Amino acid sequence: MRKWGIIATWRMAADGVALGADILKNNGKCQDAVEKAIMQVEDYPFYKSVGYGGLPNENCEVELDAAFMDGKTLSIGAIAGIKDYKNPVSIARKLSEDRFNIFLVGAGAEAYAHKNGFVRQNMLTERAKKTWEIRMKEINEKNLSPYDGHDTVCMIGLDSEKDMAVATSTSGLFMKKRGRVGDSPVSGSGFYVDNEVGGAAATGLGEDIMKGCLSYETVQRMRNGMSPMEAAQSAVEDFSVQLRRRRGVAGAISVIAMNNKGEWGIGTNVEFTFVASTSEEEPKVYLANPVFNEDKTVKEVKIEVASKEYMEEYKRNIQKPLEEI
Ligand code: ASP
Repeated sequence: MRKWGIIATWRMAADGVALGADILKNNGKCQDAVEKAIMQVEDYPFYKSVGYGGLPNENCEVELDAAFMDGKTLSIGAIAGIKDYKNPVSIARKLSEDRFNIFLVGAGAEAYAHKNGFVRQNMLTERAKKTWEIRMKEINEKNLSPYDGHDTVCMIGLDSEKDMAVATSTSGLFMKKRGRVGDSPVSGSGFYVDNEVGGAAATGLGEDIMKGCLSYETVQRMRNGMSPMEAAQSAVEDFSVQLRRRRGVAGAISVIAMNNKGEWGIGTNVEFTFVASTSEEEPKVYLANPVFNEDKTVKEVKIEVASKEYMEEYKRNIQKPLEEI
């Protein structure tokens, strides 16, 4: 049997991964698998950090970042701070076909999307608006940090012809400043893939992920012989140690990785969920929990398959009625 595989960040990727796995199982291409899988997440209104329903910036505008990379040609396309377009990942993929102007932001990205026939849509849902109003109130009343509540969907795919692709999509930090761009559309930080080695992608505090170019770092560690698990965990851990030593604090960082044999791994310095499927395994949602030493270094990361109860509770939580938010 020819090998294929797909791995993605966060529980929200589960249905997308199932769709991507189906494409790969039927000898489809990895580029299509990761794009379609991410579109599924972008279109689902209850996922509050990606696409439609994504959480807005401090001005209550949904600004989206996305990227696409092809591991065979190393082609990249990326957009940042785009408003009111339905599937940012597809716009990023289209840009990856170009030789010049492959990373567009704001009004330029919107003009490109319009010219190329992408669907315009108001991406702010009632639910996201209400969450914004509540947070605004909390910030004013309790002086809370505004930035909690962010996640990126990242997908890495390997197809039966041994090609690889990676893509990302996010609304970035909740309550971010207008124009703020995180790691997700930035090559080497939010994502990287090379058919000759494998791919990696990151989620967490973009401001810190960008300081260590963690996706490229993870791919380089695999190039030098590490397994995806060793590469991702050591890249996250070594850099978290550096950040604490040199800046006093390390933000949340999680990295997924897959090599060109379809072996996968993750690294994280916080509780993290991810989804994986290969020619040998059905799509599964995993929970990863770091166990810490006294000096805050990570002793080990415990990985287990999510229980049925966890899955049900998650669904109840994201779909709870508007009045209960
Ligand atoms: N890395 C994203 C950003 O900083 C957010 C996340 O993945 O949680 O925009």
